[in-house]
Amino acid sequence: MTTTVLTDQVISKKPRKIHRALMKEEKPIPSYPPYKFYKWEFKTPVQWFNVFVLSAWHLLAVLAAFYIDSWTKPKVLLFYVILATLTGLGITGAAHRYFTHRSYKARLPLKIFLLFCFSIAGQNSLVEWVRDHRTHHKFSETDADPHNAKRGFFFSHVGWLMMKKHPDVIRKGRTVDISDLLDDPIIVFYQKYFNWFKIPLCFVIPTLVAHFYFDESWFNAIAGVCFVKYIISLNSTWCVNSAAHLFGNKPYDKKIYPSENLLVSLIAMGEGYHNYHHTFPWDYRTAEFGKMLNATALWIDFFEKIGLAYDLKSPSEELVRKVVENQGDGSHYKWGHEVPYDANENKKFVN
Ligand SMILES: [Zn+2]
Ligand SMILES: [Zn+2]
Repeated sequence: MTTTVLTDQVISKKPRKIHRALMKEEKPIPSYPPYKFYKWEFKTPVQWFNVFVLSAWHLLAVLAAFYIDSWTKPKVLLFYVILATLTGLGITGAAHRYFTHRSYKARLPLKIFLLFCFSIAGQNSLVEWVRDHRTHHKFSETDADPHNAKRGFFFSHVGWLMMKKHPDVIRKGRTVDISDLLDDPIIVFYQKYFNWFKIPLCFVIPTLVAHFYFDESWFNAIAGVCFVKYIISLNSTWCVNSAAHLFGNKPYDKKIYPSENLLVSLIAMGEGYHNYHHTFPWDYRTAEFGKMLNATALWIDFFEKIGLAYDLKSPSEELVRKVVENQGDGSHYKWGHEVPYDANENKKFVN
């Protein structure tokens, strides 16, 4: 993905109010000494409020999963399959592959549907999400990477949401161009009223639908939607930043952390082919194969078939082959470093 520096010219095109609200540009960049707490030492200060909220939400989700007594009802399962698909699409198909990487183009109805799905997922606001993710790609595995995997599994999974941002994340994050979002009046409107979309669509409406249309009790509906489903969906997303940056092979670029992780692909609708994704971030499939454990790519193909998505980007097979041969770790199924057959060599072993 190409990113350009956000110049003063680009900034000044937007009214100052929007600029202040969306970029937080005028806030000074913090600098803090290494944080010490008894024997622990952190690079950045811990945000104890976030630690408390995230921990409590996880504990309540575990308890809720234990007490919900309707998991085996087909109607309830159907409800969660639909809700999980919309949630997943909101992150993978919308925030990630469309708004961050612009790996395909969407017509207006699809764009609105993608914003609807992103609200259901209930994560950070869209502009923050996109800026963090573009920063992650541009400065992977450095202090400027919001979830730098060099700081360990826990930090890259959820710890980064429990700590203040490293000053480099803020400093270098401001050099990442997000003017495509700021220039789009629909996104500016959506960003301004984000919580008015997020809270009803992520928590309130799904709970009411579960109760009134899928015959869930109030307890099961609230516990299932607001705790179990929410926490599972957050962790599925976070696994892409942690597990898919630490565990797996690297057929496309052996020098980077991101790895191919099938388990993450399974739980994150195709986002676990992360070595490929960091090598070809503009491919709408985020994987060499769009059909294997990659529900998001199948959905985007479907949107293309019904005329809502177009200009889907993918590299040629030849380009992928060249990249694999030049910089892969040799584990590619087709162009890995296999030992070529040599009849004379073989004879030595047979005789
Ligand atoms: Zn990544
Ligand atoms: Zn990405």
